Amino acid sequence: MKIELLAEKIAQLKKRPGASGGTLDQIENWLNNSYVLQRMRINPYYVTGDLVQNVKRITSEFLHGVKAGVFDLHWDIHCPHCNMMVDEFKHLGDASEMSLCPMCEREFKIDLEQVEVTFSLNQEIDTLQQREVCDLPPLLHNEVPDKLPDDELTLEQLPLRLSGIQLLHHPDYKRLFGEQVISERERVKIRAITIMFTDITGSTRMYETLGDAKAYNIVRDHFEIFFESIERCGGKIIKTIGDAVMASFINNEQAIMAAADAVASFREYNSTRQQEEWIQVRIGIHRGTALLVNLNNSSDYFGSTVNKAARIQNLSKSDEVSFSEEVYNDRAFLTALKAAGVSEIQKRVEDLKGIQGAQVAYTARINTESVIALSAE
Ligand SMILES: [Zn+2]
Repeated sequence: MKIELLAEKIAQLKKRPGASGGTLDQIENWLNNSYVLQRMRINPYYVTGDLVQNVKRITSEFLHGVKAGVFDLHWDIHCPHCNMMVDEFKHLGDASEMSLCPMCEREFKIDLEQVEVTFSLNQEIDTLQQREVCDLPPLLHNEVPDKLPDDELTLEQLPLRLSGIQLLHHPDYKRLFGEQVISERERVKIRAITIMFTDITGSTRMYETLGDAKAYNIVRDHFEIFFESIERCGGKIIKTIGDAVMASFINNEQAIMAAADAVASFREYNSTRQQEEWIQVRIGIHRGTALLVNLNNSSDYFGSTVNKAARIQNLSKSDEVSFSEEVYNDRAFLTALKAAGVSEIQKRVEDLKGIQGAQVAYTARINTESVIALSAE
């Protein structure tokens, strides 16, 4: 590794407005003390040390470094059974649906939750040999068992890593590399994603009483407020459908934080306006498996999780959020819900259109008076 050249490149990266000099120093220090094997595939969590919450900031500097040609970005495909890295792709557009593990001798569906995003120094700085694919997974470093597990590893069994789905939700990824989509022919599995649907309540009446032009402006204001809350809380806007918004999050608590943040902003908006101009929304949240697809050259999610999230949203009234049993069972979500000023949750059993069997769901009213301040981190 060319240490002087690295120092020069890091100094250049520091000149970017908004660059975090301290974070870049941390990355440089880590690199200067790293082993060759660690540097071939840099997991940003290696660099964070004990402060896991700093991974977003470190990833941000890596992404700017990729843009500046200092680092290369890799999407590493791991086998879901043994976690061995079997292949990689350079761009999301090169992702395919299936891959093969030579160790397990099994084909598997690529899961963007298990795809690990790593970085390496550009060859100009570090002339490492081309990264070897097919290295032994950490789980099997000591011995290779006679029989490999049939079951897929759970997400908890995997080492801390920047997942493909985490990268897609990183604000700087879209900012720097544009809206990257998978190939139109492919669909890629995501083991777990949180989907939120929102809709304005009473918009038909709003159009009738205010007229199209005025009502349309209010709907636009509503989108602006929602988009800001969703992005500030780490979510990604997938699409709008009429007055409705569909967004994705890497976890449930971010979704409820975005919902509470938006509802608080709508109350503030409403406080200076006549009642006919009030913006009130209903929200639905569900988490599960989905397929990432390319629809008209933008990313979209497909599958029963998406349908269920949309149906659950229909259970809510103004300023209410409804969520599935899967979301309710997440402790972190309940903590965030409490922070959002929710004091009462109503359990219900409902038939949801297009979904077989009665479904347990929960509805809560967002009381924004006690909403805690949300930070960008
Ligand atoms: Zn395998």
